[in-house]
Amino acid sequence: SNIPKIVIVGAGYGGILTAQQLQKELKHNEANVTLINRHDYHYITTHLHMPAAGTDTIEHSRIPIAQLIDEFKVDLVKGTVKEIIPGEKKIVLEDGSLSYDYLVIGLGGEPETFGIPGMDKFALTIRSINSVRLIREHIEYQLALYKNDGNPSRLNFVVGGAGFSGIEFIAELADRLPQLAKAYDIDFNRIQIINVEAAPTALPGFDPELVEYAMDVLKRKGVTFRIGIPIKECLQDGVIVGEDEKIEACTVVWTGGIRGNGLIEKAGFEVMRGRVKIDDFLRAPGHDDIFIIGDSSLMLNPEGRPYPPTAQIAMQQGVVCAKNLAATLRKKELHKFVFSNKGTVASLGKGEAVAVVGKRKIKGWVAAQLKKIVDLRYLFIIGGIPLVLRKGRFF
Ligand code: FAD
Repeated sequence: SNIPKIVIVGAGYGGILTAQQLQKELKHNEANVTLINRHDYHYITTHLHMPAAGTDTIEHSRIPIAQLIDEFKVDLVKGTVKEIIPGEKKIVLEDGSLSYDYLVIGLGGEPETFGIPGMDKFALTIRSINSVRLIREHIEYQLALYKNDGNPSRLNFVVGGAGFSGIEFIAELADRLPQLAKAYDIDFNRIQIINVEAAPTALPGFDPELVEYAMDVLKRKGVTFRIGIPIKECLQDGVIVGEDEKIEACTVVWTGGIRGNGLIEKAGFEVMRGRVKIDDFLRAPGHDDIFIIGDSSLMLNPEGRPYPPTAQIAMQQGVVCAKNLAATLRKKELHKFVFSNKGTVASLGKGEAVAVVGKRKIKGWVAAQLKKIVDLRYLFIIGGIPLVLRKGRFF
């Protein structure tokens, strides 16, 4: 048929919002839309630090994609993309391939290890439901092993990176480990929770007063900070930091950086840390048929610095991407993407958070409620009230 084919790869924040907005924008038979994702569920990445630490169930962090998409309007394909071939307008999957007229890449990011030896091999990372299950099981298994071999390194938990995901994860860990210690008959005072960050401050770029507040909250929960100290190497039983100091730990979780999905560089796009610097309309330079959104893309703010990769920007890009696809099909003018910053919240575990909204600084219980509202708002946007009731966390 002559109906144009739009293929969206990745059903994360960017991909889901693109697909949903296309459902609203496109008229019957204006285009065939296919959404390809490795799993048949969408995961709420911004929530994954909780099931990783064991403070929430996995099921609160994922939703079957079929519940989010109108299957009369969008074809869902469960498949893993192996290769993108822009020259042939083709996507290669594990089992077959398909062609597109227009492509949206929303494949998210992958951990950036900055070439630190051993980090790839020995550190755990929070990036998917599967990786989160591993972290959760690993933590409990270390405690179980400790009760059998008495190896004290099993009681040390290192988190590399004190950015938003590192801080949010370590906060959950600090909430969870006292409970686990009790369950495994271990004195919590023997457990060490250590956050190592190379930058001169935790939460780089965030308001200094709130950073101090966040660190105080976490210190009270038992976290030790090693700030301004780079990890030199990751080993099976610890990390080497600073000038050859070894921190013994059988658990190292790396949250120190994100780069674009490796498939993008392999496809021949010009990248910076795996990301493509997209144009104002969200297209890859030189490819009017390819839109790249979310963690795989790079966009500069008005001051010329890259926007940090967030769910917030990926969602907004998804909506504009769909509008620009419709405009492209109709040979109309495209919309420039303008990021609207709704604020930033970092959760610090149960009942605690820090937030900046506009010029306002918010901390403590109020900020924690704000975090819940942000989470519920997302569920509402993608799935309406039914999803809020099914997956929402109100307490
Ligand atoms: P993703 O949401 O990562 O989705 C990518 C999708 O592509 C996934 O469904 C994946 O399965 C699929 N995929 C990947 N490779 C393939 C393949 N080869 N074939 C098929 N499918 C594939 N941001 C905020 O704004 N606020 C927060 O509070 C916040 N908290 C965070 C907390 C944690 C612990 C983490 C890890 C991140 C947090 N972020 C937060 C960042 C945010 O999660 C990301 O920026 C966002 O998920 C990026 O969206 P995306 O659409 O680019 O990719």
